[in-house]
Amino acid sequence: MSTKEYASKRDFDRTSEPRGGNGKSGSGDQPRFVIQKHDASSLHYDFRLEIDGVLKSWAVPKGPSTDPGDKRLAIPTEDHPLAYADFEGVIPQGEYGGGTVMIWDRGTFSNITEKDGERQPLKQAWKNGHVLVELHGEKISGGYALRRTGSGADANWLLIKIDDADADARRNPVSTEPKSVKSGRTMKQIARDEGGNDE
Ligand code: MN
Repeated sequence: MSTKEYASKRDFDRTSEPRGGNGKSGSGDQPRFVIQKHDASSLHYDFRLEIDGVLKSWAVPKGPSTDPGDKRLAIPTEDHPLAYADFEGVIPQGEYGGGTVMIWDRGTFSNITEKDGERQPLKQAWKNGHVLVELHGEKISGGYALRRTGSGADANWLLIKIDDADADARRNPVSTEPKSVKSGRTMKQIARDEGGNDE
């Protein structure tokens, strides 16, 4: 796994995004996840899971749901370096992904993908387009399924809450819990503090 595509899309003299590196590791043996709210050309939530030394990434336009009845489109994007899980700030306009980035939720996760009654390694699960994880975040917790649908240019993924004790059709954290878990800031505050110009 490599983050060459990530690096090729960015000019690190202009953006304050990390060039690479490992960042903080998860607690114990548990891999990390992060959900970054990103006010780019269209607002979305970048869902990233630590798999095989990189952050496997999907752009989720509506963000994660806690309702097992919702199927949220998750568009695969390039692998990001692990250090990206700590990035919150403003990507300059005109640069790739220009806009404000907030660490909306983060934590560790467990792989709960099984095949034929056996735990399947994350890398293989990702390749198969069927990943089951249990998230341990501040806003989002419990089981989620990521499933690839379609193939070739039509391939996409869906992010679906597993119907477990953390499922709750009445919660809507994307709208009711809008602040950063890293800094407590709103998107506007991050833009004001780190945008380098008046908004
Ligand atoms: Mn994004």
